Amino acid sequence: MKVIAVSGGVISGLGKGITTSSLGRLLKARGIPITIVKIDPYLNVDAGTMNPYQHGEVFVLDDGTEADLDLGNYERFLGQSLVGTHNLTTGKIYRAVIEKERRGDYLGNTVQIIPHVTGEIKRTIREVAQAAGAEVVLVEVGGTVGDIESMPFLEALRELSYELGEGQMAFVHTTLVPVVGPVGEAKTKPTQHSVRELRAIGIRPSLIIARGPAPLAPDIKTKISLFCDVPPEAVISVPDQSVIYEVPLVLEAQGVGPLLSRLLNLPDRPPDHSAWKEFLATYRRGDGAVEIAIVGKYTELRDAYLSHTEAFHHVQGHLGKEIRLQWYDSEDIPRNPTLVARLERADGVLVPGGFGARGVEGKIRAIEIARTKGIPYLGICYGFQMQAVEYARNVLGLDRANTTEVDPASPDPVVCLLEQQKATSDLGGTMRLGAQRVVLTPGSRIAQIYGRTEIWERHRHRYEINPEYFDRLRAQGLAITGMSVDGRVEVLELASHPFFVGVQYHPEFLSRPESPHPLFSALVRAALARQEVASPVAAAPPLA
Ligand code: GLN
Repeated sequence: MKVIAVSGGVISGLGKGITTSSLGRLLKARGIPITIVKIDPYLNVDAGTMNPYQHGEVFVLDDGTEADLDLGNYERFLGQSLVGTHNLTTGKIYRAVIEKERRGDYLGNTVQIIPHVTGEIKRTIREVAQAAGAEVVLVEVGGTVGDIESMPFLEALRELSYELGEGQMAFVHTTLVPVVGPVGEAKTKPTQHSVRELRAIGIRPSLIIARGPAPLAPDIKTKISLFCDVPPEAVISVPDQSVIYEVPLVLEAQGVGPLLSRLLNLPDRPPDHSAWKEFLATYRRGDGAVEIAIVGKYTELRDAYLSHTEAFHHVQGHLGKEIRLQWYDSEDIPRNPTLVARLERADGVLVPGGFGARGVEGKIRAIEIARTKGIPYLGICYGFQMQAVEYARNVLGLDRANTTEVDPASPDPVVCLLEQQKATSDLGGTMRLGAQRVVLTPGSRIAQIYGRTEIWERHRHRYEINPEYFDRLRAQGLAITGMSVDGRVEVLELASHPFFVGVQYHPEFLSRPESPHPLFSALVRAALARQEVASPVAAAPPLA
């Protein structure tokens, strides 16, 4: 096993996840089997109970783990699916250590951070690498060097480097090089300090990734090299990119691929980035724009819907059409007629997943607009459940129809708690989670979109469409075209509408640059088709 550990300095939010994913991509492009582990030094066992406003989206893995959103970046950049062991948290590590202590595994010993907690961290990393059959494991340490919380993890990595020996492990430090003052001077002092902090705990970085708004000037690279004791060619400048998928190529252009191969004694094969480059070229072509409205309640923090944004980027990289996302705060919709008027002009509407009562009426209104104005609509999870509520209210005439999540006393609980949830009181890791099989109705729109009638998609929900309303919804035209094997509704669609599809699952988690999710592609295609109908002149090809 060889290891690349990625730490962060100065501030968090530097795009360490993208950096780690991109380093992985460089090795993968050289045919080296790799895997990635994310360390989150918080005490939560997993990200499932955290508010999206604090940590961004909760990313769901096939095995049902509710993980940090960086796991999504890894899956997208590497094109491989990961499992829960790839997201290490302080909560998980301490839980394992305490369970062992209670079992008597350490009998006679005082259980301590060193060697027991650090031992558990090293053991897990080794196990994950082995289970994945990886030659190189990348380990990203969340937070910033100097945080008390991340100390045991950095110590474990230092020990690991010693145990693995020369040429088996590389430390990559991602830092901020801020640009300040009227002349825009790049400042290296914060980087110097954070590297000093790393060295104080016995870690010497072999590569420094300098983040900032603009490329580093050669003299700044030299300065960082001198003060931080790394060769100048190991100081890598990664300025902000308009598309994150550029980053692997930015690294490659500065020789990071061969450098990593040298540091880890790997054969330096020439990389194959052809599909990646083609994706980026198509993405940049972006001729003609299509506008998709996203109606949710965490719209102020885009990271809360990261996988949705990325899924649209993937579609853009294949269709070559610029996709403009317009974010609507669902709470504003009922009280703002200007927003409603704007929404009515959107080429497509998406209502993503969500929880709780806040903003629900705005989502229902947005769905009604999409349904009655013939605007292509994709509902995901909560956005799908609200589709059933909207239909029950406005087509079936059940005025107080609702989900019991919002109105437990609703006379028409069209969406209600899953049977298995009724006895559950813990909120952590207890939803219907992860990859589940869905059977699609042959000949339905959804079956056409996928080109097959059996799919596996990732889930994260506690409520479902109430079986007592299946017949009434169907009788009024809302077709159920996807079911789980245990009889839950997974897909709803309206045959009389250009595109009105809702899914109980989360397609956004499976979209990748090299294979955009078919549902997102289908929504965008339907939105483009609507545009052509709406303005045939603008859409016509120019005269030769
Ligand atoms: N709140 C709904 C449920 O728990 C939807 C969840 C979601 O959108 N992820 O079923």
